[in-house]
Amino acid sequence: MPNSSFCVYQIRQHFPILNQTINEHPLIYLDNAATTQKPQAMVDAVAAYYLHDNANVHRASHHLSLRATGAFEAVRETVKTFINAESIKEIIWTKGTTEGLNLLANVLSKGLQTGDEVIISALEHHANIVPWQMLVESHGIVLKIIPLTAQHDLDLEAYQSLLSEKTKIVSVTHISNALGVINPIKEMVRLAHQVGAQFIIDGAQAVGHQTVDVQDLDCDYYVFSAHKLFAPTGVGVLYGKQHLLEALPPWQGGGEMIKTVSFEKSTFNQLPFKFEAGTPNISGVIGLGAAIDFLRAFNRQDLIDHEQSLLTYTEKALSEIPAISVFNPGGIKSGALSFAVQGEHPSDIAMLLDAQGIAVRSGAHCAMPLMAELNCIGTVRVSFSMYNTLEEAERFIEALGKILEMLK
Ligand code: PLP
Repeated sequence: MPNSSFCVYQIRQHFPILNQTINEHPLIYLDNAATTQKPQAMVDAVAAYYLHDNANVHRASHHLSLRATGAFEAVRETVKTFINAESIKEIIWTKGTTEGLNLLANVLSKGLQTGDEVIISALEHHANIVPWQMLVESHGIVLKIIPLTAQHDLDLEAYQSLLSEKTKIVSVTHISNALGVINPIKEMVRLAHQVGAQFIIDGAQAVGHQTVDVQDLDCDYYVFSAHKLFAPTGVGVLYGKQHLLEALPPWQGGGEMIKTVSFEKSTFNQLPFKFEAGTPNISGVIGLGAAIDFLRAFNRQDLIDHEQSLLTYTEKALSEIPAISVFNPGGIKSGALSFAVQGEHPSDIAMLLDAQGIAVRSGAHCAMPLMAELNCIGTVRVSFSMYNTLEEAERFIEALGKILEMLK
């Protein structure tokens, strides 16, 4: 386990993957918004589960199953504390953010009628657009979009004018995956509650970069993916206020989510199992627990400050290059920033950076409507994590400078 004083070089030692060369250059991984790298302690926890405890959970009375169930359920408590939920009944395992949002759209649709309104924003990932769009088709709901200001922040005045007694659900990202913009989400929740709407936060990009307190935010639901939080792929969390989850119908049917089954009728299990049909991703959940334990060994504010300093340096350096325009210039961002290079395709820039060992993401970032709004085909996105160094940010700027010289 790491010690608690912040040293980025010590942190890097926990991530063996970083210690390699790509195209004969030391790897610089700046694609953390897509997925984070994994600490050794997390990988070890998953391996230990498979090597020593592997069994199905909640099913048997034999020793291994009891051990697996104990380890698995302990992580619910870990996650509860991590996001400051009130009860472990509010922590539902999913496959990830996408599944959490689909689950919510599906079960909440049962209470929606033709003409009811759902508000999302221009900054959303496809995962927070398409499930609602499907309800336009199937339930006749009306989807309203919060537009952007000229600075690429959400237009809060426009948001307020969209809210009305017709608004039933507002579903907005905490931090934009494409631009890194932090939304004033707590205030947005407050405004939605004033008209009686429920508020869903897509926290995919926030959990790895901010302290999340669902009670303080007062959101009704919060979803995130473990893989953006140093944990395995294929597992995620849906938080919901207990009384709201209790009132909702189940989503998928199968084992675990039932109390009794007969051919005439089934009765459903209590929370959180009501929403967890079938064998869950046991090793993924155990990995998530280990990743959060790893993270908790650090002072979170140190990590936030460190990432912020990398972002500030990079944005300033980019804004000094005439051919480059940064999106959301000078805005309040976290984790990521996006830019365009005049006259160049974002994918070409990303490929040329990769040739120098630097991994960034280019394209629409699963946010095609946002790209249309920004009037661009895509962006180059740089995204940082706790293990990135200032030297890496400097090398990225230097490499980009060389590329721009070459492309002249
Ligand atoms: N929402 C946001 C803001 C994201 O950044 C992502 C992934 O990049 C998703 C949703 C979808 O997450 P997943 O693919 O892990 O389900």
